[in-house]
Amino acid sequence: MIKDNIAAVRERIDAAAKRAGRDPEEIKLIAVSKTMPVEMLKEAYEAGQRDFGENRVQELVPKMEELPADIRWHLIGQLQKNKVKYISGKTELIHSVDSIGLAQFIDKEAKKRGVVSDILLEVNIAGEKSKSGFNPEEVLDAAEQISALDGVRIRGLMTVAPLVENAEDNRIYFRNLKHLYIDMQNKNMDNSMVDTLSMGMSGDFEVAVEEGATMVRVGTAIFGKRSYEIT
Ligand SMILES: *Cc1c(COP(=O)(O)O)cnc(C)c1O
Repeated sequence: MIKDNIAAVRERIDAAAKRAGRDPEEIKLIAVSKTMPVEMLKEAYEAGQRDFGENRVQELVPKMEELPADIRWHLIGQLQKNKVKYISGKTELIHSVDSIGLAQFIDKEAKKRGVVSDILLEVNIAGEKSKSGFNPEEVLDAAEQISALDGVRIRGLMTVAPLVENAEDNRIYFRNLKHLYIDMQNKNMDNSMVDTLSMGMSGDFEVAVEEGATMVRVGTAIFGKRSYEIT
């Protein structure tokens, strides 16, 4: 039952927060529904879930049209510039901004519509060749440049940590991202409100919460295994 899965994940988040001396209310659960049929999203919705994450624009848009309007949609997968127009003004947060060029594009589309788009900058925290995202060394300079754009508002950082057997192996990466996040907050940039640290997935969200995540993106532990994988 999706309802039970959500409750179990929420309990684990709350317990991890308490272990770290944090207020569980600071942590938002994003239900990652990629590849899942709308019936399953409806079930999660009926259980009270309102934040959903999708990786692909072409999957997000039809689901958005079919499901209740009070859902907050999070775009968490790689975003192509030519797709920005389809979601501009419609997402709660774009987690996966991985280049200055993409941020400029989101800015341009937002201005056309008279909106401001909330974004996170994705960081390739473990320096994996297969992953997109800014290098940790370059992300703060990139943030500075992006902060000149007033059609986007920088809300913080996101990472997809390595796929590991033992979640503890990712603790160092979550800790490193938290440090970058604090450095980012201390920059007091224009057009920013740095309050969101998006890290932790089904395999490692408790460690991420212990290390300071304010959003966790959980798919498998809520909806079960996907029959095919998309990133
Ligand atoms: C698929 C995905 C998730 C959720 O992964 P699970 O391991 O199923 O919890 C989270 N974040 C991103 C960016 C993803 O692509």
